[in-house]
Amino acid sequence: MAALVDSHAHVQMRQFNADRDQVIAAAFADGVARMVAPGTDVPTSRLAIELAERYPGRVFAAVGTHPHDATTLTDAALAEQRELARSPHVVAIGEIGLDYYRNLSPRETQREALTRQFALARELDLPVILHNRESHADMIALLRSEGQGLRGVFHCFIGDQAMARDALDLGFYLSFAGPVTFPKNAELAAVAAWAPLDRVLVETDCPYLTPAPFRGRRNEPRYVALTARHIAEVRGLPFDQFAEATAQNAATLFRLPSLPENL
Ligand SMILES: [Zn+2]
Ligand SMILES: [Zn+2]
Repeated sequence: MAALVDSHAHVQMRQFNADRDQVIAAAFADGVARMVAPGTDVPTSRLAIELAERYPGRVFAAVGTHPHDATTLTDAALAEQRELARSPHVVAIGEIGLDYYRNLSPRETQREALTRQFALARELDLPVILHNRESHADMIALLRSEGQGLRGVFHCFIGDQAMARDALDLGFYLSFAGPVTFPKNAELAAVAAWAPLDRVLVETDCPYLTPAPFRGRRNEPRYVALTARHIAEVRGLPFDQFAEATAQNAATLFRLPSLPENL
C-alpha cells in the first residue's frame, strides 16, 4: 500500500479534541504513513509538538505564526517560537505567510512577521511552510529580497501556471489540497498535472478544505488520498507511483527520518 504523507494537517487543533487518536489511527490504517502538523501561533505550535511527541516518527510538528495572527508575534512570542523550534520533532517553520483576502492582521504587520520568521528559519536551517492568499506579488518580492537561502513549500497552492513557475524558480515545492479536486478548479488540476513530479506535495489542511466528494464535512488526514488520487488521474500516473513520489518529496523537504521498518 502506498505510504502517503499529509504535508499539512492541523490535527492538534480543537476540532479534533473529541476523537484525535481515532482520526490519526484511521489515517495510518488508510495508508497515510506520516503527517506534518503546523502551528498558527505559539499555543498551537506547542500543541503540535506535544502531539508529535506522542507519535514519534509518524507525526511531525511545524512552529509558526500565521498571517491572521501576525499581531501576536511579539518579541517574546518569537523567542518562544525559537525555543519550541529546537525540539527534534519540529521539521519546519510554519505556517507563515501573507493573506490579503481576509486581512485579519494589517498587511504591514503580516510582512514584518513573515520576514522575522524567514530569519528564524534561516537561523535554524529549517524549511518554511508558506500560506499565500491573494498576496502572490508581495510574497515573491519578499522571498527575493528577504528569503535568500530558504527552502520550503507553498502550501495549499492555488494559482495559475505563471505563479507556480515563480515558486518553482525559487526552488520551492507546491503542495496541493482539496480545492484541486473541485470540478470548477480544472485549471488548478492542470497546474498540478504540469508541475515537475519531484516538486509536488499533497496535504489536507484539515480540518478545513475537505476534498470532493466529502466537501462540507470536517476534513481529516485520511482524505489526502482523494487529492492524491485526483492528481494522479489527471497526470495519467498510477496512484501508487504518484503517492510514493510525493511522500519522497515530503521526506526530502522536511528531512524526515526513514520510516520505521515494521510499518
Ligand atoms: Zn494556510
Ligand atoms: Zn493550514
